[in-house]
Amino acid sequence: MTDYVIVLNAGSSSLKFSLYRRPESKAWEAGARGQIEGIGTSPKFSAKDGSGSPLVDEALDKTVVRDGRGALDALAKWLRATYGGARVLGVGHRVVHGGARFAGPTMVTPQVLSELRKLVPLAPLHQPHNLAAIEAVWERLPGVPQVACFDTSFHRGQPAVAEIVALPRDIRNAGVQRYGFHGLSYEYIASVLPSVAPEMAGGRIIVAHLGSGASMCAMKNLKSIDSTLGFTALDGLCMGTRPGAVDPGVILHLFQGLGLSAKDVESILYKQSGLLGISGVSNDMRALLASTEPDARLAVDYFVYRAAKEIGALTAALGGLDGLVFTAGIGENSPEIRKRICQASEWLGIELDDEANARKASRISSSTSKVPVWMIPTNEELMIARHTGVLLGLIEQRV
Ligand code: ADP
Repeated sequence: MTDYVIVLNAGSSSLKFSLYRRPESKAWEAGARGQIEGIGTSPKFSAKDGSGSPLVDEALDKTVVRDGRGALDALAKWLRATYGGARVLGVGHRVVHGGARFAGPTMVTPQVLSELRKLVPLAPLHQPHNLAAIEAVWERLPGVPQVACFDTSFHRGQPAVAEIVALPRDIRNAGVQRYGFHGLSYEYIASVLPSVAPEMAGGRIIVAHLGSGASMCAMKNLKSIDSTLGFTALDGLCMGTRPGAVDPGVILHLFQGLGLSAKDVESILYKQSGLLGISGVSNDMRALLASTEPDARLAVDYFVYRAAKEIGALTAALGGLDGLVFTAGIGENSPEIRKRICQASEWLGIELDDEANARKASRISSSTSKVPVWMIPTNEELMIARHTGVLLGLIEQRV
């Protein structure tokens, strides 16, 4: 009989899952991984085994899988049918916001859950779904321990000047500060850098996590010293449907000048802006790169412009640059975007090896580049499995 840890990443329209097992004194091994996408519209279930062979790929009944709960029911049914008899040792969750209180992975208790609910307004796209998954697992598997792993934790310990929001003290004391996100991804990259790129691992590095949510992290000695996302996951780079940095005066104007409601403004900022807002066509980088529409081109131009600008700003925060790493959906899969961002950063001495970049090698800078550039696939799920294992006492403290 095999014992598994289940990793869940519950979003608004998808439930991603991975199974991990850890044979005696070995590293974590990925078992099945997959997702239920299109929750609420046209749900579809797909999963592959540890070697990447398809296990299931089917449409689900949309009258049954109407929400996150329905998706979890469908997943539980499939897990029982496929792995009946296996033991679930624990469930690790991606939770986007841990606020000021949770500086590391935490066993979930009713009290922890109620603290995390208070952070829902700071991450309205993700947090409610992350927490709903924890509650749903509690109902179904009441004896199974659950661990919350936060996207904010990796950034705790940044210098005070990187965390501060320059507003009056009362407001800051009520929790208004820069938190940073995508921390599980950055932590994973930091964990592999010493073996993948030892020559730069201890230096001043920028990691660009470019997915539908996008951010950059400035790391010194593998610790976060600054990042482009702040109090919420709206700041910094242009994202799929979020604008990145916007003059706060624009937000005041939306309320006072245009008379929009808080709900409208929230929807504009989280769902209608960024690549989608500029192009008017799509939030998907692939579609924009394939399009000849001027607004689609402008969206891509702006994405690249903002990324290069943030690389400059974070280089200043680091006092120089010893390495640049691309990761996540766009960072891992788009040679064109990597090339354009690197071209815009040539003033830093960055020089791409076009051939290595096109064939998706790991090291993609030329041998004469002053700053080595890498493409490293991220693995947030493995990071969650490791943390869950540590908290459950399944492995030694070394991760
Ligand atoms: P998230 O986990 O935040 O949903 P991902 O890291 O999966 O996001 O990234 C999704 C983004 O990656 C989408 O914008 C998608 O268009 C982009 N992407 C995936 N493959 C490619 C590719 N080959 N070229 C360009 N963009 C890609």
